[in-house]
Amino acid sequence: MTTYIFDFDDTLFDNAKFKKDIFKILKNNKLTKEQILTSYLSVRHDYNFENHIEYIKNNHIKINHKNIKKEFQNINLIDYLFKHTQETLNEIKKDNNLILITYGNIKFQKEKIKKTKIHQFFKKELIFITNTNKIDILKQIPNLEKSYFLNDKEEENIKIQKEFKKIKVIKIDKKNNIKKAIEKIKKEEK
Ligand SMILES: [Mg+2]
Repeated sequence: MTTYIFDFDDTLFDNAKFKKDIFKILKNNKLTKEQILTSYLSVRHDYNFENHIEYIKNNHIKINHKNIKKEFQNINLIDYLFKHTQETLNEIKKDNNLILITYGNIKFQKEKIKKTKIHQFFKKELIFITNTNKIDILKQIPNLEKSYFLNDKEEENIKIQKEFKKIKVIKIDKKNNIKKAIEKIKKEEK
C-alpha cells in the first residue's frame, strides 16, 4: 500500500487551459489585455467566478458583466480534467491510499472537485481544501511513511520536501504528468 498525495490545480485539473478560456471570455466582452490581467491577478488567491465578476463590476463600469457571468456559468469544469486523470486515479485507488490537498477559495475548490467528479476516487475525510497552506494540512496527517506528494508548484515542493523528509515530492508538469510519474514509482518499487 502506497500513499499518493495529490494537488488539484495543474496536477489533476488543467488550470492553465481554464485560465485561457476565462481570458477569452473577457476578451470577447471587450476587456483589454491589461484589464484582463489586472482583474485576474487581483482575485487570483481567492478565485471564484463571483469574486472575479465583482471586481470587474466595480472597476469597469461599461463592461457587460451580466453577459460575462452567463458565459462563466456555462463553463463545464469537467472538461478541464487532464485526459489521463480519471483513468490513472481509477487504476490506483483500490490498492493505495489516496489523499487530495488543494489550495484556493474553499467554495470554488469544493465546486471544482464535485463537478469534475474527482471526489469519487478519494475518501471524504482525505480531501483537504485550504486557503492558507498545504504544510499545515500535511502536519495533521499521520503515517506518511512511504508516501508521494505529486504537485506542479516547484516553490511549494521545495518547502514541503525540506519539512517532510519521509515524503517523496514529485514535480508534475506536462512532460511528467501523474500517469507517467506513477508508472515510474511502480517500476522503482518493484
Ligand atoms: Mg497546483
